[in-house]
Order: sequence, then structure tokens, then C-alpha cells
Amino acid sequence: MPISQSAPVLPEPSQKVAPATVQPALTVARRHRVVVVGGGFGGLLATQFLRKGDLEVTLVDRTNHHLFQPLLYQVATGILSEGQIAPPLRGVLRKQKHVHVELAEVTGFDLEHRTVVAVRPLGAACTFPYDTLIVASGSTTSYFGHDALAQHSLPMKTIDDALNLRRRILAAFELAEAARSEAERRTWLTFAVVGGGPTGCEVAGQIAELARRTLRQDFRAIDPTSAAVLLVEADKQILRGFGDRLSLKATSGLERMGVDVRTETRVTSIDGDGIEVESPGGRERVATHTVVWAAGVQASPLARILAEAAGAECDRAGRVAVGPDCTLPGHPEVFVIGDAMTLDGLPGVAAVATQQGIYVARTIRRRVEGKPDGKPFSYRDPGSMAAIGRGRAIVSFHGLRYGGLLGFLSWLFVHLAFLTGFRNRVGALISWSWAFIGRSRNQRTFTVEEIGGSDIYGRGGPQGSTPARSRNCPDLPRSSARRPR
Ligand SMILES: Cc1cc2nc3c(=O)[nH]c(=O)nc-3n(C[C@H](O)[C@H](O)[C@H](O)COP(=O)(O)OP(=O)(O)OC[C@H]3O[C@@H](n4cnc5c(N)ncnc54)[C@H](O)[C@@H]3O)c2cc1C
Repeated sequence: MPISQSAPVLPEPSQKVAPATVQPALTVARRHRVVVVGGGFGGLLATQFLRKGDLEVTLVDRTNHHLFQPLLYQVATGILSEGQIAPPLRGVLRKQKHVHVELAEVTGFDLEHRTVVAVRPLGAACTFPYDTLIVASGSTTSYFGHDALAQHSLPMKTIDDALNLRRRILAAFELAEAARSEAERRTWLTFAVVGGGPTGCEVAGQIAELARRTLRQDFRAIDPTSAAVLLVEADKQILRGFGDRLSLKATSGLERMGVDVRTETRVTSIDGDGIEVESPGGRERVATHTVVWAAGVQASPLARILAEAAGAECDRAGRVAVGPDCTLPGHPEVFVIGDAMTLDGLPGVAAVATQQGIYVARTIRRRVEGKPDGKPFSYRDPGSMAAIGRGRAIVSFHGLRYGGLLGFLSWLFVHLAFLTGFRNRVGALISWSWAFIGRSRNQRTFTVEEIGGSDIYGRGGPQGSTPARSRNCPDLPRSSARRPR
């Protein structure tokens, strides 16, 4: 269905209109307006591929950056800095002059009037009118309806999550060094990771390497290599999608690195002092202050809001059902891509989002040029991989399944190729050389304020510190010690 390119020129809300002059009725060609919600894998690729044609593109995101989520765990474990995996959207798109980047949180859709409703930082409401809409709002962490599990565990979905996790992991070693009893020390030196998918395995592996390689010689009262890392998975095996052989290979690799892999084990509760798990052998409580939640995701709430506005269906994970051309049923002008949609059982992975982003950009360009739509979306599976540690990765690629050093080199190559920005690629390569060939990790700094401020030192806190308790570290204990006056 070709979309009209002619429409009356309307004054922008910010434009001043002279009150007394009467303009002749005028219809001139204006650019076709595309609004893209979300600058993640799908939204960014769609925007980049909308570079040709008579288009005005507005990319709305509630963060100022694009996030390369597959490497979040490396930020969380001190290998990479946040800037290396999260370039600012304005910078990435600076050469596309017809693209406007808007920092705003989308809250709703008026499909009848073709308007996206949002709120800007500082609370001002705003709207973005569109001729075509692309919703690529991704997913959020899922606790499978058990919200209590969220209170004392650490998710890993955003840059804030990764930075919070990093200071919690590093602080745990410091607090173990300062602990006054063996039990307290063991609790700080125990880390639990929930979820045996690629993210959980990668985090568990990197916490183990941080403890056994990077921090090995840094402490005097504790032995960091004695840290316990538990990986808890409800299924019979970890990394199920990779097949039995690679799953076993990853399990033995993680175990050699010191990770205690517990399969067929379900988490029943998490509190500030530990985690309770249930397995065929019975129930067990493990004392720990650091629990990483890597067990599941669900679609961003925007998917359901959009589905309700359109009367469309959502699946159990809150993903809105789209047609074969990625459009919302009854709304050929609205596309939903990536983790926010469901179509033919496609997985929630970056490759689906990026391929759909390119596909919808091409469809929009065809429509604007007055051409008929092309073929329905078809996914080309590029395979999957997970790096569980230094020199250890597993790869599943078109029937080929391999691991070891070859797997690790494949992982390095693919992640370097897909990281956004040349400078980030060079930076990542240098950081990986330090961490994987050497032992060091550059990103190990946290501030006292970030781990609880004055409460960590007792009343009063270090000189000049603000007596506030960090909201990021609700489980870090208050000190009973009083500062000498
Ligand atoms: C830790 C982790 C590791 C992963 N590892 C891999 C991997 O190794 N390989 C792989 O293929 N996939 C991996 N994935 C999955 C992959 O990252 C996602 O499938 C992919 O990011 C989906 O792309 P998307 O464009 O749909 O959403 P996203 O990339 O998540 O982007 C969504 C964007 O929408 C924005 N947004 C959300 N709500 C709003 C709102 N209300 N208003 C404005 N903006 C909004 C967000 O800020 C974000 O920028 C991983 C995911 C995680 C969390």
C-alpha cells in the first residue's frame, strides 16, 4: 500500500505563527514521518537503514545510548567500561541529518490520530506524530510472577544493572576482607547466579575468573580464590539450546573454573542474607549477599499497551503478535520488531531484531517510493555462541557445533564485528588482551557512596561523605561501629 507523500505543512508546536497574516490554502509535499520507539538492536538498525528516501525519522528512547547487551556481563565483571558497549545514539546517528533523536519515555499510542505519547525528562508531556511507526521497545527482566525474588537479587538488563552488579561484586570482596567472623566472610565470598542460559553462564564464569585470576594476589586477610560461585538452573542441563554435547562441555568447563553448576535446582526464595533452593535431593539454604538474576525476560510493557490500543493478541511473555510483514493486525502503518513481538516462534535474540529492523526499513522505503510490499519477513539463523571464560566458548552454527579455543576465537571475531563504532572495537580488543592474556581488569573502581556511603563506616561516615544509604545496595549492611569523634 503506497503511502501519500503530500500533506499540508503544519506548524511545529515550537514554531511561532504570526497571528494576523492569512495564509492562502496551500498543500505542499512534506516528508514522510517515521517514528521509531527504541534505539536498541532493532530500532537502531531500522533508523540506519532509513537513510535514503524522502523521510523524516524521529528516534525516541528513554536512554541516551544504544546498548550492546551481549557484553553487559563484561561491564558487570570489570573487563569493559560502559562507554565501550553503549555509544550515545546522537553520536551514532550524527551524520543522518534527517534523523532527530529524542530522549523521552513513551507511555502510550493514539493509533487513530497516529501519535506517540511520551514524557520528557523533568516531566513535560510530549507527542510525536507519525505516518509510519516502528515499535522496538525490547524486553525487561522477568521474575515469572514472583516479584519477591526481585527485591534481593540483581538483574542484568541495563547499564545501570551492570554497574550496580559490578560494585556489588567488588564490594563483596572488600567486605569479606573486613569481616569479623568466618561465617560472615564466607557469606560475602559466595555468589549465586540464577539461570543457566548464555548470560548466567557468562556471568558465573567471569565472577570465577575475577576471583581466581584478577584478584588472586590483591587481598591479605582473605583468599579470593576460595570464593564460591553457584550457578542454579531449573532445567536438566545448562545452555539447552546448544545441544547435549556442548552443554556438557560448558558444564565441565565451568566446573574446572570453579563454578558449582546445580541443574534441576529451583530457587524458592531470596532474601538479603541468602538464597533457598530446591532440587531432587531436597531443600537447601545458601548464605550469600550477592544473587544475580539471569533467569528470564518478558516484553517491555509498551508491547501490551500497544496491543490493547490495537485490540491485538499478546503471548504469555507479553509480546504482541504481528503479521508476516511485522505489522500490527489492522494497522499496516505500525511495525513491531525484536523482543517486543512474537512471530512464528522466533527467539528473542539480537539477530531477529536487527534483521527485522533492516526488513521494515526496506518495506517503508518501498512504500514511500510507491512500490508494492516485498516478501514476508524470513529469518536467517546466524547461529549462537556463549563465552564462558578465557579461551572457552561454545558455538552452534548451521549444524556445526564446536567449542574450545576455536569457539573462543569465533566469539571474539563476531563480537568485535558487531560492536558499534571503530573506537569501541579497538578499546574492547585492548581490554580483552589485558583480561584474557594478562590478568588485569581496568574497571574496578567504585565509590564509597555507591556501596552505602556513611553507613558502611558507621555513623558519620568518612569525612566529607553524604550520610545517605545507596539505593543501589539495599542489602549491604549498616555498620554497628561508631566513628571516633
Ligand atoms: C544480558 C543479555 C545478554 C544477551 N546476549 C545475547 C547474545 O549473546 N546474543 C543475542 O543474539 N542476543 C542476546 N541478548 C538478547 C538481545 O540483546 C535482544 O534480543 C535484543 O537486544 C533485542 O533487540 P530490541 O531492539 O528488540 O530491544 P533492545 O535492544 O532491548 O532495545 C530496546 C530499546 O527500547 C528502549 N525503550 C524501552 N522502553 C521504552 C520506552 N517506554 N520509551 C522509550 N524507549 C524505550 C530501551 O531503552 C532500549 O534502548 C542478550 C540480552 C541480555 C539482556
